[in-house]
Amino acid sequence: MSNYHIKHLEEYYQVYRKSIREPENFWEEVAEEHFLWRKKWENVLSWDFSKPEVKWFEGAKLNITENCIDRHLTTRGDKTAILFEPNNPNEPAEHISYKELSKRVNKFANVLKDKGIEKGDRVCIYLPMIPELAISVLACARIGAIHSVVFAGFSSTALSTRINDSDCKMVITSDGSYRGPKTIDLKGIVDDALEDCPGVQSVLVAKRIHSNISMTEGRDVWLQPLLDQASDFCKAEIMDSEDPLFILYTSGSTGKPKGMVHTIGGYMVYTAYTFKNVFQYREHDVYWCTADIGWITGHSYIVYGPLANGATSLMFEGVPSYPDFGRFWDIVEKHKVNQFYTAPTAIRALAKEGVDLIEKHNLSSLKVLGSVGEPINEEAWHWYNDNIGKKNSPIVDTWWQTETGGIMITPIPFVTPTKPTYATLPFIGIQPALMDEQGNELKGNQVEGRLCIKFPWPSMARTIWGNHERYRDTYFTAFENKYFTGDGALRDEVGYYRITGRVDDVIIVSGHNLGSAPIEDAINEHPAVSESAIVGFPHDIKGNALYGYVILKDTGESRDQNNLRKEINQIITEHIGPIAKLDKIQFTSGLPKTRSGKIMRRILRKIACNDTSNLGDTSTLLNPEVVQDIIDNAL
Ligand code: ATP
Ligand code: MG
Repeated sequence: MSNYHIKHLEEYYQVYRKSIREPENFWEEVAEEHFLWRKKWENVLSWDFSKPEVKWFEGAKLNITENCIDRHLTTRGDKTAILFEPNNPNEPAEHISYKELSKRVNKFANVLKDKGIEKGDRVCIYLPMIPELAISVLACARIGAIHSVVFAGFSSTALSTRINDSDCKMVITSDGSYRGPKTIDLKGIVDDALEDCPGVQSVLVAKRIHSNISMTEGRDVWLQPLLDQASDFCKAEIMDSEDPLFILYTSGSTGKPKGMVHTIGGYMVYTAYTFKNVFQYREHDVYWCTADIGWITGHSYIVYGPLANGATSLMFEGVPSYPDFGRFWDIVEKHKVNQFYTAPTAIRALAKEGVDLIEKHNLSSLKVLGSVGEPINEEAWHWYNDNIGKKNSPIVDTWWQTETGGIMITPIPFVTPTKPTYATLPFIGIQPALMDEQGNELKGNQVEGRLCIKFPWPSMARTIWGNHERYRDTYFTAFENKYFTGDGALRDEVGYYRITGRVDDVIIVSGHNLGSAPIEDAINEHPAVSESAIVGFPHDIKGNALYGYVILKDTGESRDQNNLRKEINQIITEHIGPIAKLDKIQFTSGLPKTRSGKIMRRILRKIACNDTSNLGDTSTLLNPEVVQDIIDNAL
């Protein structure tokens, strides 16, 4: 199909319209032309959101690793598939070609089989960002085992909960990990977790930091000797399109994490198609997504999407601040990165450091910049655009979720004119709807409501592991016959979407619905502010009033806090209106964040409401120490 790569706006609209009018035909063409199937489907799509049940390419047989690896071997065997940049800049980068990747995945798959892992078994992967992480993911897929990657920054309790929730039989980990100047005792965390996980029969341990660790006899084995002995050919298990590929827990910003289940065929087609278009990937490009493979962004846009396109995907083990805050730009220059995909939290952290470290580096290879994970505020958007993209590289602000599997609302670079803080237009095949609280769809432009999707797309999650009822209740009961995202959005006069924040974070002040993102965006415009979060607290007259937590930039000079409060409210009045003025503003040194870098507003809400006896599930919190500090200084 010639339009695999969308080239101009007219073409976008054309393809979009076709994808809406004839979704089955559209996705069938994409699937037929660009992938390797062992058997064709009997039915492109069947769906019923009331159950909910969605099936794509039913009856088709395939193995996703044949699509991500084998079929590239003749044309791209020597091309780098995974470019591994270690934590330590003096350790050489590793270029793993498609041929090499094939050998390593096949060997790993044989090791899994030898250890008794069979099709359908769950395998928990708790590894740092080293090649073994991507390889073990693919090895599971090769033999039809279901991988459940747990981000290797999670605590032992968070790990054991996830292992038990999906009954994992095996854990794959390493002796430890590097994180900037520090090392982390991953194996120790696994040992603690496994005290509560009777179902785990074996632990494969990769060597990374060469530390002295204890190995439990009969359970723990070193990975490398097994790989050395294994054959480098393992027949790909032939899977059904609707067999589960993986389980992945959502990042836990809003409550108990949910084990989202993604299935093979639709996920492959959609992540590959979005990757190609959203990053405008060309054959010799080097693409880098800074996410961890422990998040959906890493699954879809470090591993599966890029490899299904035969791309070169860079994997970085370290952190943006090591050895200094110029590390990202050092890597971009060193590997001539063409597409760079990161999160607003990283952009804000780097923006705080000024531009000196950027100017030392040649960033001219960059063509496309991406953002994902949170609304990107206007100031951060401009900083990214001016200093990193030099106003030459379009920013794709991609809105999507663990549940959606792939990017849903996004500009297409060089095609969709961008607009700061707007994720712009629905991707091909995506049918968003904005709903009011009574359940009516808001038609036309210049409306704001709850963001739903009214038609299935290939990579949507099919269920929550072991809890289909929770899946239905969370996503399909709020609005009849629609998938409810939990986010609020507005559609502007040209049909562009702006995500206004999570609906749970919407605050009703004197009868007006106020989303968190636009107000925080206004606050961040103040030159002294580096980051902010707002929540509501009960108010006798207004129903709710607004409480703001504000981090100031570290400029060295002291400032009058009451003046700052006035100035911040002045900016809010100008940008949004006096209705959104904050009743209380607390200056703080940090905000509670999830390990994926998102603000946990539910904790801030409890503090603002003076209800700190039970803060809920905090196991996914990155920086628990700031919580006490904020409580101690609450207004
Ligand atoms: P949980 O569902 O467990 O509370 P989470 O929602 O943070 O965690 P993810 O699936 O990683 O878990 O994140 C998806 C959410 O992140 C979206 O629903 C949205 O709120 C936010 N988000 C992602 N990308 C964007 C974006 N480009 N603009 C605005 N918000 C975004
Ligand atoms: Mg969510």
